[in-house]
Amino acid sequence: MGRVYNFSAGPAMLPVEVLQEAADEMLDYQGSGMSVMEMSHRGKTFDKIIKEAEQDLRDLMNIPDNYKVLFLQGGASQQFAMIPMNLMKNRKAAYIVTGQWAKKAWKEAQKYGEAVAVASSEDKTFSYIPDCSDLPIPEDADYVYICENNTIYGTKFKTLPDTKGHDLVADVSSCFLSEPVDVSRYAVIYGGVQKNIGPAGVVIVIIREDLISEDVLPGTPTMLQYKTHADADSLYNTPPAYGIYICGKVFKWLKKQGGLAAMKEHNEKKAKILYDFLDRSKLFHGTVEAKDRSLMNVPFVTGDKELDAKFVREAEAAGLVSLKGHRSVGGMRASIYNAMPVEGVEKLVAFMEEFEKNNLQ
Ligand SMILES: *Cc1c(COP(=O)(O)O)cnc(C)c1O
Repeated sequence: MGRVYNFSAGPAMLPVEVLQEAADEMLDYQGSGMSVMEMSHRGKTFDKIIKEAEQDLRDLMNIPDNYKVLFLQGGASQQFAMIPMNLMKNRKAAYIVTGQWAKKAWKEAQKYGEAVAVASSEDKTFSYIPDCSDLPIPEDADYVYICENNTIYGTKFKTLPDTKGHDLVADVSSCFLSEPVDVSRYAVIYGGVQKNIGPAGVVIVIIREDLISEDVLPGTPTMLQYKTHADADSLYNTPPAYGIYICGKVFKWLKKQGGLAAMKEHNEKKAKILYDFLDRSKLFHGTVEAKDRSLMNVPFVTGDKELDAKFVREAEAAGLVSLKGHRSVGGMRASIYNAMPVEGVEKLVAFMEEFEKNNLQ
């Protein structure tokens, strides 16, 4: 059986070239006589892998020298606690609640202090990004938190909120490396890699150095302190070594594609094909406000649950898989991350056109 077009929100498609290279190196990584899975994380070979991965990520994102790059574990969800434990010095923070992931982070932060929801789009099932140009951010808030791309609902912040001078923390799990970013506008950028970069098990945290200190909330475990990992260059304990190795390959692949500006162009092209079709379709409709549409996650519905289910079934049989929408939105969702080729989206739209012809009464 050949490879399918996998529209999963995560774990998601990886570039075939990367998988092929990893397969070629599986039994004997560059003459070491072993797989990267089997080697010491303290050895020279792995040291080169992790250092190169970090440098390539720094090159891709133009990360300023006063930011640390950490390769951690625990999923993006663990950051929901790590962020307040390390940054909530005044025990107060502002959260912008634009979806389930932002809401989970907000709820978790409430365990550690006063987490104020300064804006929310829950009134309309998170189908838009609220106006964040003049929010009631408490003067003594330690940071302002956003989920920049809302994986489940398919919205994205097109402009960052006005934080009124406060530090900005962003969960970019589902838009990591999808377009250029100005890292200096953030205090912390983090994301689980399984959406747009690599295999589940690695979380990348890019954090401004002055935020890393021993001054954390009382009782914060050693493993949950940024300082622990920053001081040890992400090698305090055994890191998710194989996952980091694959991330490193994806970084090299991205560089070869022309970097993040080229990825943005590629992603805009794919998204336009799909959104243009949704805008002219008589059967399928997008579910979010056009101005806030994500380039990465595209939810859509027919308005008829049985028809949605039929679509998902028939698409799967045609090699277009994992199109079922999140249970909280229903319908379909096409996640079209960096590794999804343009042909995948063209095939999807051709299939949708055909389905529309056959099913529109
Ligand atoms: C998937 C996702 C998460 C949760 O990631 P885990 O690694 O499973 O904890 C958090 N935030 C966003 C935006 C996501 O897309």
